[in-house]
Amino acid sequence: MATKSKFQAIRGTRDLLPPETALWNHVEQTAHSVFGTFAFGEIRPPVFEPTELFARAVGGDTDIVSKEMYTFKDYDSSQELQGLWILIFSAKDPKTQDETLDLAKLAGKLIAVGRSALESGQLSKTPENLRALDQIELYASKLPGIANQGQRETGPVAAALRDAVTELDLGDELSLRPEATASVCRAYIEHGMQQLPQPVKVYYMGPMFRRERPQKGRYRQFYQIGAEVLGGSDAPAIDAEVIEMVMTFFDRVGLSDVELDINSIGHNAPDCRPAYVQKLKAALEQVKDKLGADSQRRIETNPLRVLDSKLEREQAIIATLPRIADHLCTECAAHYAAVKRQLELRGVFFKENWRLVRGLDYYMRTTFEITAKGLGSQNAVCGGGRYDGLVELLGGPPTKGIGFAIGEDRLILSLQENGKGAAPQGRDVYIAWMGERAYATAVRAAKDLRNAGFSVELPPTELKFGKALERADKLGSRYALILGDNEVSEGSWTLKTLADGTQQKFTEPELLEFLKSVKASGERL
Ligand code: AMP
Repeated sequence: MATKSKFQAIRGTRDLLPPETALWNHVEQTAHSVFGTFAFGEIRPPVFEPTELFARAVGGDTDIVSKEMYTFKDYDSSQELQGLWILIFSAKDPKTQDETLDLAKLAGKLIAVGRSALESGQLSKTPENLRALDQIELYASKLPGIANQGQRETGPVAAALRDAVTELDLGDELSLRPEATASVCRAYIEHGMQQLPQPVKVYYMGPMFRRERPQKGRYRQFYQIGAEVLGGSDAPAIDAEVIEMVMTFFDRVGLSDVELDINSIGHNAPDCRPAYVQKLKAALEQVKDKLGADSQRRIETNPLRVLDSKLEREQAIIATLPRIADHLCTECAAHYAAVKRQLELRGVFFKENWRLVRGLDYYMRTTFEITAKGLGSQNAVCGGGRYDGLVELLGGPPTKGIGFAIGEDRLILSLQENGKGAAPQGRDVYIAWMGERAYATAVRAAKDLRNAGFSVELPPTELKFGKALERADKLGSRYALILGDNEVSEGSWTLKTLADGTQQKFTEPELLEFLKSVKASGERL
């Protein structure tokens, strides 16, 4: 029974528990194995990065960056400065001469520590910080005089001092990652990966953080498994192979009934996407009155996003809008045709979906999305696409890139709904022991069985055999090994099959052989 405790997991986050975690491990092992066969290597970037990185890579005006990031100041670089900062910021207006002089002393200390932090690089030498320190010095220098003149102006001067202190920027602004492509591109640049044999093929898995409205299949901490190919080439075969890899993974993990939608969104040159967006905008203006408020707003801010609309009454109108496939430049049209051919060559089934778009400029050409049955409205399990230009946008060399991110939480939900959930986590062998001598043997037997790869439960305190067998049953154990002093002195151990209650006697080596032969026969122990 779940009980309500004082502390609970934060809304939108959850504990993944056994036996479900066995399914998570299975999914992740399958990803390691399948991606390995496509010669991808694993990258593990940190879960937090400078906010600026995401603002640039994901886009400052996207919902993700503008509303959904977990952002914080990293004060760790100067604990002492932070302490002084807090003391002055939270100080009350001084009432007595002594209090005024104390505040002046604190401010003096903050200035000294602040200036040396500027020198050592612990505090950034920004014009704002330099001005703030000057201001603090100015107001701090007024305090002793006020104290001597009977405390008349303390309030305003203390307030001005506090204001000056808040202007001091003590730390970097960091964010929990809302996605990992930005980090992978940052790492590519930071480690000079353009020097490596090209293209660089990496995959990652781990938690992402977005402050979205939680619902089934949508969490604030969720998990993605993704891959990126970065390098000098945008050959259509790269796009097709990346897609083939995701589809192979879904197949191997047992997610049937998925649909792959693909599209090309051209590129950001006057004769390609921007010209299409103009046409789309003009067409949307014509039907503006029939659209909902969100779509009306998007005509101005991001017309492509209107195509994402799920609003029932807009669907018939959207169906009549111009399609990007008819407006691609020659190179993009040829690239798209080649990607489709390459997919066919690989036996990958796809559906063209002209409404599949991405809102950011550096996304280009191939985009794709994979949806799974049985997930309701949150049915996208994977999104991906080409993003040539992103590495350059982040300060790296011109680099082509393509990648995808799978929503692991949704993938797991879908597997569970299709009856592919984890089997309850039973034990192979439960060791029911009684007596001092039996215990020593039980410890050794547990070690041998575990070394041979069996899962073993060894109760830490002595239990009557009846009680022990009851526990063994409750834990879903396949066998109970019964070890009493008699069994130990005779060297003949009893193994009970819990499903039917039958018992067999074995010597120690025979027992190991027997269990190994059951395992080798492919039965789950
Ligand atoms: P995106 O990075 O937005 O392209 O998302 C890629 C995939 O991650 C989606 O197709 C979802 O499966 C998954 N995803 C995105 N946001 C969430 C979330 N808040 N909770 C669970 N899964 C998510």
